[in-house]
Amino acid sequence: MPIDVVFPQIYDPKTAQLLLIQQQFAKFERLSPREQSTLVSKQLSRLVQHASKYSSFWRDRLDCLKNGAPFHDLPPLTRADIQQQGDSIKAYSPEMNSRNCKLFSTSGSTGMPVSVDRYLPVYNPVYKALGIREMHWHKRDQSRDIIVIKDAPDSDQADWGTAGMPIGSIGKMYVRNLLNYSPEDLWEWLKNQEAPYLATTPSMVMRLAMLASKDHSHSKRFEQVITFSEVVTPECRAKVREAFDARVVDRYSCEELGWIALQCPVHDHYHALSASTIVEIVDENLRQVKPGESGKILLTSLHSYAMPLIRYDIGDYAVAGEQCDCGIQLPVISKILGRERSFLRLPDGSLRLAGLVGEYWLEIAPVDEYRLVQYADDEVEAFVVCRRKLTETELVAMKKMLGQVLHPKLEIVVTQVQSIDWGNGRKKIDVIRLDYLRQKS
Ligand SMILES: [Zn+2]
Repeated sequence: MPIDVVFPQIYDPKTAQLLLIQQQFAKFERLSPREQSTLVSKQLSRLVQHASKYSSFWRDRLDCLKNGAPFHDLPPLTRADIQQQGDSIKAYSPEMNSRNCKLFSTSGSTGMPVSVDRYLPVYNPVYKALGIREMHWHKRDQSRDIIVIKDAPDSDQADWGTAGMPIGSIGKMYVRNLLNYSPEDLWEWLKNQEAPYLATTPSMVMRLAMLASKDHSHSKRFEQVITFSEVVTPECRAKVREAFDARVVDRYSCEELGWIALQCPVHDHYHALSASTIVEIVDENLRQVKPGESGKILLTSLHSYAMPLIRYDIGDYAVAGEQCDCGIQLPVISKILGRERSFLRLPDGSLRLAGLVGEYWLEIAPVDEYRLVQYADDEVEAFVVCRRKLTETELVAMKKMLGQVLHPKLEIVVTQVQSIDWGNGRKKIDVIRLDYLRQKS
């Protein structure tokens, strides 16, 4: 039985370490952009030294920086690089071994799964401390309960687990599986729960919000709806506000690196977590775009010692933002546009994000799932799962709706299927461009 001390609080060493790291991040957020960039450059040069010393792949690639070439001359690191380089891309120093480094494999939702080694004594505390920053930014009270709907087994847990700060009283966490239940079943369960926080994917919360709007027996409120894994649309934010009177708080992360950016406490845009990851948004010449312009995201994970990820091309696109007025001086990402492969290629060759939302389908028929596949530049097949046979009129209406939402010149076929093969991916991506997959593989 531990001795019960009220003051001063005596933390265990791991908790104390986390609190001190998160304090440093809190201070970093308030530094001027110039001061931030000085610290980031120092950490980056440490990582570059380490990578050059312990990885033959990085030694060759980083060689140009020695001759004074600017950082943005470095070619992006692709998934194919990671897949093909094997151990030469790893940078194990003598203190690293199989006990303190762990290999993480991505789910393959991108069409190209990769494995990334992490040095846990650095990765874990940094990851957790950034999670604590998010709790502070959004004034989340972890003594209250949280519901999480994600691709994980059902469980009722006594606390928030790794999602929480290991001090003070911690509320319960109820996890339900995202794929094993229909949104209708989840809604029946959810509407009687008391937890003020819900965390799930944007597409799931949209479906739940639609069900909530139709269910007049309950008026369900949440204080915050935390989203992850997919792009949040303005429609999603509006629907969640209308149905649950809650603000959507989005997180941008990836399996390869962990946290990338978190939603601003005041606005709907994001702050890049540049104390741990440099987020570049670049044009086709790999130069930083101006605020308001969109480009490809390149990520440099500043603590990726076991397997350096420097200018890693994650395959996402985003719009750069102006400096924020909320007091946090971290760089702003005004919009995250999503994966390259959730874009359709239009007949004129340009790419367009498929702005499809579930509502469009549901106005026509009780569609459970859909997936678009683009075969060639002007052919799109929509696979649709519906609990009853679709009528000819409904199929025609769907084709018409897709033409209006996507592009009038695309050739569209709608096919009803029993089920959709989503692969093992955690993220359900609704557009697959086969030409893109072929070109990358
Ligand atoms: Zn802000």
